[in-house]
Amino acid sequence: MLTSFFKALANLFKTPKTIDYPLTPIAKDEKYRGVIEYNQDECIYCLKCEKACPPGAILFVPVDNPPINEKNKKGLKYHYNPHLCIYCSECVRACPKPQEALWQSNKKGHIGIKDDKINDDWFELEELKK
Ligand code: SF4
Ligand code: SF4
Repeated sequence: MLTSFFKALANLFKTPKTIDYPLTPIAKDEKYRGVIEYNQDECIYCLKCEKACPPGAILFVPVDNPPINEKNKKGLKYHYNPHLCIYCSECVRACPKPQEALWQSNKKGHIGIKDDKINDDWFELEELKK
């Protein structure tokens, strides 16, 4: 009982283990690979990344004005959802043109992506795939 009391008392003077987020930004883990980056000019539209993605965070859907690329025979457009992504890198491993068409980047500013509406739009994109 007395031990617990002194422990509690000592804890009052220790620095907190928690982070005062969002006032204090979360430190980036040194192993953080970063979000997926994509270059439509280098993409050959093989869709291997989309098929390899476990949570379905990459979608290629047909659009009226598709990116101009001679390999894009079906008129598809690439979409990526950073909130669904589990950062496993499977898409980059599956891509025949890694670092050119698809890669991961941990550039500053990518942590804590703020786009509240992305999931709303995503549901519509998923419908287009059905
Ligand atoms: S890193 Fe993993 S979860 Fe994220 S888009 Fe690539 S395959 Fe999908
Ligand atoms: S795997 Fe690479 S080349 Fe194929 S569609 Fe995805 S980004 Fe494009």
